[in-house]
Amino acid sequence: MQELFKKAEENLQKYWGFDSFRSGQDKAVESVLAGKKTLVLFPTGGGKSLCFQVPATVFEGLTLVISPLVALMQDQVEQLKAKGVSATFINSTIPNYEVEQRLINARNGMYKLLYCAPERLSSELFQFELEGLGVEMVAIDEAHCISEWGHDFRPAYRDIRSSLQVLPDSTRWIALTASATPEVQQDILENLQFEEANILAKGFERPNLKWWVVHTSKKREKLIESVEKASKKGDGLIYGGTRKNCEYWAGFFSKKGLSSEPYHAGIDAELRKEVQQRWISGETPLVVATNAFGMGIDKPDCRYVIHDEMPYSLEAYYQEAGRAGRDGEEAFPVLLYKESDFIAAENRLKKSYPTREEFEKVYQALCDSFHMAVGSFMEEPRLLDLDNVALRSRLSPSVCRSVIRLLNQFNVIALQEEVKAAFAIQFMLSREMLQKFKERCKNPEKAEFVDKLERLLGANSFSDLAEIEEETILKKLEVNRNTLVKALNVLMQSDQILAYHVMKERDVVKVIEARSSKLPLSKDQVERHRNVLLSKLDMMNRFINTTGCREVFLRNYFGDTGASDCGHCDNCLNQEGSKTNAAVTEDKISKVLEMIKEEPISALQVSRDLGYSKEEIRLIFRFLVSEGKIKAFDEAPGYYSLSSESARF
Ligand code: ADP
Ligand code: MG
Repeated sequence: MQELFKKAEENLQKYWGFDSFRSGQDKAVESVLAGKKTLVLFPTGGGKSLCFQVPATVFEGLTLVISPLVALMQDQVEQLKAKGVSATFINSTIPNYEVEQRLINARNGMYKLLYCAPERLSSELFQFELEGLGVEMVAIDEAHCISEWGHDFRPAYRDIRSSLQVLPDSTRWIALTASATPEVQQDILENLQFEEANILAKGFERPNLKWWVVHTSKKREKLIESVEKASKKGDGLIYGGTRKNCEYWAGFFSKKGLSSEPYHAGIDAELRKEVQQRWISGETPLVVATNAFGMGIDKPDCRYVIHDEMPYSLEAYYQEAGRAGRDGEEAFPVLLYKESDFIAAENRLKKSYPTREEFEKVYQALCDSFHMAVGSFMEEPRLLDLDNVALRSRLSPSVCRSVIRLLNQFNVIALQEEVKAAFAIQFMLSREMLQKFKERCKNPEKAEFVDKLERLLGANSFSDLAEIEEETILKKLEVNRNTLVKALNVLMQSDQILAYHVMKERDVVKVIEARSSKLPLSKDQVERHRNVLLSKLDMMNRFINTTGCREVFLRNYFGDTGASDCGHCDNCLNQEGSKTNAAVTEDKISKVLEMIKEEPISALQVSRDLGYSKEEIRLIFRFLVSEGKIKAFDEAPGYYSLSSESARF
């Protein structure tokens, strides 16, 4: 055991070039090496991948990694290969003959890691090969997908355990996620049959972050005031909600002398990269962004993150606000909230969630756009033509896009967004003829170029278009794009030895099952998903309204229990609040609750009927909201009603 861990540390250095495990990672690695079933809960960016990738390099056998997203899978495999760790993946975007080849390779011990989409596990091909693969460890990434309470529930995740039933008892198991509330944790443990598992939660504490929620009816003034104060400390970020708001506030602060830029999905990808870069370098001290500003942007010295709009879940909030203070120095996540925000967000969520009819229309339009007949299968992923789908379904492109994303989540289709630009090239002569062409070629540089190209594209390129990412081909052939295009044009037009075309960055889709005459989704499935989203929003609202320590609330939510008060969030520091807190007795709280049980009430009514002070009533309402007992009443501003949850009891 000691020896295995030493080997793991060596490999961490050898393949990744890292000197040591982070605290928590070491425990997780030790735990799997010791053969303990392990559940890892680290926040995003916390370094979960290494917890299974490093042990995978230590074991003789194969590590099977279950991962939900095609793009994630591909990225990780590329990264591993670049480091010299052999790995591959199978998912629904890979044609069957290729899946077969990869499984045969795996059986022959060619890989350390095999990434696999959950729905592949039950396929006949996989089941046939499974026993022979020599699986020594199973790693389930994004394990919250197992739970209906997770924000990305994937039905196929629930069948992982039963699909892998034939694996011997000695198989090691590890599951990993960034967001596992206690319910989700329980679901994961039960579903995977992790008895006596090691649960490792780490990294949710952010002692340098001073969480702050501002309850106000004047958000505009508060935003200006907050930026004025915070920008003295350094660079920051505002989450502005809509594109229009982002444009507006970036302009506003720039005019006031604080150079700011907007960032949202409506801005050209190139320009977006530049904005990111200028923010990271400090040239632009403030960016006002929608939630499109995301993954992979790391600026250690971001001093503040202000939310002008409440996010739809604590997962999203923690991730966005958590961009502040990555360097460990003091930083401020600030959330501005006015009472009607929750109702507005809830209504927006309800309105934007596609109806069943919209699901049906988009599914049919999508299949039509690929000319799929009912009962027929789609062989390979195809280009998504969103405008065409919109036209056929008579729905807006944005509705179509959100339905398509949900269909992806429900595993009706496999969607791969922003597939990188690529070249598709095919030789138009036989291998022997190409050999002759090279020999006869007067220009040795040209002959060498063709030779390199041939080796890069492989044997398939003589019978079919071979796709290769632009980045890869430029690097391997050591040319720039212009030179490559010129060379290919000569080879296509003058020499006529190949054909090629350029594929821009694009989205591709594969309909997974045969086309069905009706949308292959139950009403229940859709309904449940929608309700989970609503309950996530509700938790966000409870966080906003809690009168307890913010950090404790967040850490509890993420399963990191037993934390003590941070002592520096708005609630911990609010002395006056705690005085009133003391005055707010259980008796008073239950009297207010009794009133609300009768009918929705406002603060004014409570003060008239019970004579409590304004501040007391405000705190009582907040307390009851944070406990999930009541919520803002959507038919009259300022009123509160029983939440549906407590209405049930
Ligand atoms: P997660 O899956 O938890 O979101 P990742 O596994 O993608 O996080 O890791 C996030 C980043 O942290 C990666 O860039 C990774 O290289 C880096 N990282 C992880 N562990 C270490 C370590 N022990 N030393 C240095 N960097 C690390
Ligand atoms: Mg990860």
